[in-house]
Order: sequence, then structure tokens, then C-alpha cells
Amino acid sequence: MDQWVQGEVVDNLHWNERLCSLRVRVALPDFKAGQFTRIALPETASPEIASPKKDEMLARAYSLVNAPHDPIAEFYFNLVPGGPLSTRLHRLKKGDSVYLSKGVAGFLTLDEVPQCGHLWMLATGTALGPFLSILKTDEPWKRFSKLVLVHGVRSADELTYQTLIQQFSDQHSDQFVKLSSVTRETVSDTLSQRIPDAIRSGELERMADLPIDPEQAHVMICGSPAMVEDCMVALKEKGLRKHRRRTPGHISVEIYK
Ligand SMILES: Cc1cc2nc3c(=O)[nH]c(=O)nc-3n(C[C@H](O)[C@H](O)[C@H](O)COP(=O)(O)OP(=O)(O)OC[C@H]3O[C@@H](n4cnc5c(N)ncnc54)[C@H](O)[C@@H]3O)c2cc1C
Repeated sequence: MDQWVQGEVVDNLHWNERLCSLRVRVALPDFKAGQFTRIALPETASPEIASPKKDEMLARAYSLVNAPHDPIAEFYFNLVPGGPLSTRLHRLKKGDSVYLSKGVAGFLTLDEVPQCGHLWMLATGTALGPFLSILKTDEPWKRFSKLVLVHGVRSADELTYQTLIQQFSDQHSDQFVKLSSVTRETVSDTLSQRIPDAIRSGELERMADLPIDPEQAHVMICGSPAMVEDCMVALKEKGLRKHRRRTPGHISVEIYK
């Protein structure tokens, strides 16, 4: 059986010259909010290949931004200069074909989070995506008294999905805290430090008006290997530890590499 299912691009929104949201009409497998699948294009990009085989595909992992109940698959990605797949995804237009893996994977999901009061979601760049999927579902709003979403970017034009994030805020004003960190520009009402530095300095807790308390908090982190590692180190200094099924803790991670 083929590993891939063919989908059709519904739209490919370019937020700026690098950041895109790709929406695909496709028969998605069941998945949990926070998981990822693989997007593929035929290696040869030849339109006459009707049903490419696995070894003819160029594939990479991408988090699903849509909620599991949403029929259109959505992905948030950036054009990595010289990157084999992202440069081609960037050029996709409405009506083009794209292939998705029939499987999903990943443990950055709420069923892996032990019961606690406060859920912190720390993301840089396109790693915002899985948290948007989680926040589009009912579960986090039922389970946690406080939800803090922190999005780290370099410049203000990378602060995407603001309308959606504002909707979460409007609907759950007492429960939801949204924070941004912009590191290469001065933008009012944002953290001025990288997320790991803002954890260490206390700026993150001050802006959120909430302590990162090991008794109450679970922290989900998604981003580059360096960002995830630096956040883990800063959080360990506060008494939090990595969550494992056998040894429950406070930190769950997904690394984009
Ligand atoms: C579990 C998982 C989930 C992922 N989900 C997403 C997602 O939702 N959105 C997304 O944009 N990417 C995501 N990625 C990264 C994605 O799979 C690709 O690596 C990326 O899009 C670049 O692909 P490429 O073929 O153009 O270049 P590659 O040859 O894959 O990578 C080229 C270089 O770019 C670096 N890189 C990888 N991802 C990024 C990024 N997002 N920003 C900047 N540099 C990067 C790599 O470390 C490598 O050094 C995910 C990766 C993993 C492992």
C-alpha cells in the first residue's frame, strides 16, 4: 500500500517573503492536536508521475496547525534558503498536488501532560503551529486554569496568526495569556529577551503575571534544537524536569531540526 495520500493545495498564504501557511484538501488520518505528519513532493517534480513511490519522494516533517476536527490540513512553514523541500513548498499554488504521509507522530499532545493547573506553551518561529492546533480544541480550556502562549520571533513581521490568537484571548480573557518575544526590534508590550533569557531573568513570569511553579506548571516547548535546549536548562534551574511516562515531570518538547 502506498505510504502517501495525494492532496490539493487550497491556498498558500505568504505572510511575508519567508513565512507561509499552506492549506491542503486531503483525507487526513486521525491525529491528536500537537502532532506532525510528513509532507512530500516527487523528487523529479514530474507531473506525469501519477502515483509516486516512497523512494521517489522528497519528504519532511511538519506540524499540523488545524484542529483534528477541521477537514482542511494546515501547515505553517518558512522558506529555508537552499532548503530542498521548503523552497518548493513556498512556490505551491492553489490547485497544485502535494503528498502527505498516511501516518502521524509526536508526543507534544495534551494526553501526555500530567494533571496540573497551568500550561505554558513556548514556541519560536513556525513552531507556533502545534500550539495553535491544541488551542483550537476544547480540552485545554477545560483542563487548565491558566494557559500561557509565548511566541518568540526576530522581527515584528514574524508575529503571524495575530487575529486567531486575539480570538483565543477575547474568548478566554481570564484564562489565557499571550506573550511575544521580539529579539531584533523594539516592539512595545513584548518581551525584549529570547525566551530562555526571559525565563532566567524573571521577565517572562513578570509579563505573564504568573510564576513558573513546579507544583502547578507544565511547560510544552517547540522550536529549534538550541532554543529547546536553552529553555530546558533555564527551567531546570527553576526546579522543573523533563516529563517522561515512567518518571512524570514538567517539560514536554518537540524539536524542529
Ligand atoms: C518533528 C518535526 C516537525 C517539524 N515541523 C515543522 C513545521 O511545522 N514548520 C516548519 O517550518 N518546519 C518544521 N520542521 C522542519 C522541516 O521538517 C524542514 O526541515 C524544514 O522545512 C526545512 O526543509 P528543507 O527541505 O527546505 O531543508 P532541510 O534540508 O530539511 O533543512 C535545512 C536546514 O534548515 C534547518 N531548519 C529546519 N527547520 C527549520 C525552520 N523551521 N526554520 C529554519 N531553519 C530550519 C535545518 O536544521 C537544516 O539545517 C519540523 C521538523 C521536525 C523534525
